[in-house]
Amino acid sequence: MPTLGAIADDFTGATDLATMLVARGFRTRVVVGVPEPPPPADADPDALVVALKSRTAPTAQAVADSLAALRALVEAGCERFYFKYCSTFDSTPQGNIGPVMDALLDELGAARTVVVPAFPATGRTVYRSRLFVHDELLDESPMRNHPLTPMRDSHLVRLLAPQTARTVRQLPHETVRAGAEAVQARLAEPEFADGALVADATTDDDLRTLAAATASFPLVTGGAGLALGFSGPRSGADEARASAADPAPDAKGVVLSGSASAATRAQVAHGAARLPHRKLDLAALRRDFDAEVAALVEFAERSWAERPGQPPLLYAVGEERDVEPAGAEPGVPAAELVESALARCARLLVRRGATRLLVAGGETSGAVVTALGVRALRMGAPLGPGVSWATAEAYPYGEEDGAAETGVLVDLALKSGNFGAVDLFTAAWKELS
Ligand code: ADP
Repeated sequence: MPTLGAIADDFTGATDLATMLVARGFRTRVVVGVPEPPPPADADPDALVVALKSRTAPTAQAVADSLAALRALVEAGCERFYFKYCSTFDSTPQGNIGPVMDALLDELGAARTVVVPAFPATGRTVYRSRLFVHDELLDESPMRNHPLTPMRDSHLVRLLAPQTARTVRQLPHETVRAGAEAVQARLAEPEFADGALVADATTDDDLRTLAAATASFPLVTGGAGLALGFSGPRSGADEARASAADPAPDAKGVVLSGSASAATRAQVAHGAARLPHRKLDLAALRRDFDAEVAALVEFAERSWAERPGQPPLLYAVGEERDVEPAGAEPGVPAAELVESALARCARLLVRRGATRLLVAGGETSGAVVTALGVRALRMGAPLGPGVSWATAEAYPYGEEDGAAETGVLVDLALKSGNFGAVDLFTAAWKELS
């Protein structure tokens, strides 16, 4: 029976946290969307992570989905809960971090929780309540101009206060650095008896301290970093070994990249120098979507035949200037076009025998996972901070195809735009053989 239940506000965030939990010794399952009926108890997971798409959803929807997820996790036997959001605290003055946190606390009858977006391994640190992205303050980082959640302040207390009905307090670095007992002594003071406690953390040790000091909290919140201080019942390596859906060395793979992030662009450049590759042609997709998707699928199939062992790379953005600003062209917006084209490619390629898919981009991953009808992911071999292979049952046929719903076992790696080493698109496959 799972002991830990997590609710992640997007798909790659769910696999990010699940990757950390596996490394910390939890056999972990990711359930896609609010689970109904209650999550499968099949392979006896220690942790269940529900992947929602609630980060930028209307607030009422985000709250309703998160509460439904919490109730399903309680029903599945979970005893402690983790609300996972982005380590760059992606939100607006309306939410959705604060409202979801409040609703989860109310539902659990809990008075307080901790707020820990810090994840030093990925460059996110918090000091004096200010969130840094590597060397930059959050509001001076590229997140300043995020299209949906522009982060124009770096002060977490100021960011969270308008989003929550609860009191927001700061837990300073001096206390965290003094260790778990010092933090617990502080938390025992009446001032900290309720509300949201925004904790400073600049190192992995700080995260371990915070996890230990809040081990009795029914609910913790943060990025995936806080889970570094968690300890599950197994050795992470044992779980990681049981990964490949199709261990055959000539299994068909593909990279689908819809991300425009800097790290992904470097991975695309590296991959394009070594793998068969094709860039999505937005004009051709607008002209005749089905024909262009068919051409991409045919290219991938030809690559499998001609260059076995070199998974083709289908990508949307090679250089920054490939990004088409919203409204620049009439017709379907570029973002929607790319997501639906890569999702459609994924579905058709799995029908043609693809069993390994590496997907770059949070929104893109959501579109692909949805198109494949994936309901759950079993985490497997890690590929670095925040990225892992996972096995999943895909359903690439639907009623409209006149075919029975047949499940196909696939390996999936879902990568948030800024994660992964530069050689990820070529190196990832070695972990499956
Ligand atoms: P990341 O994790 O890097 O943010 P996402 O997949 O979440 O990646 O977001 C990237 C978004 O950019 C997707 O909605 C995708 O469809 C969109 N996109 C991809 N290529 C282009 C392009 N050439 N022009 C405009 N938008 C694009």
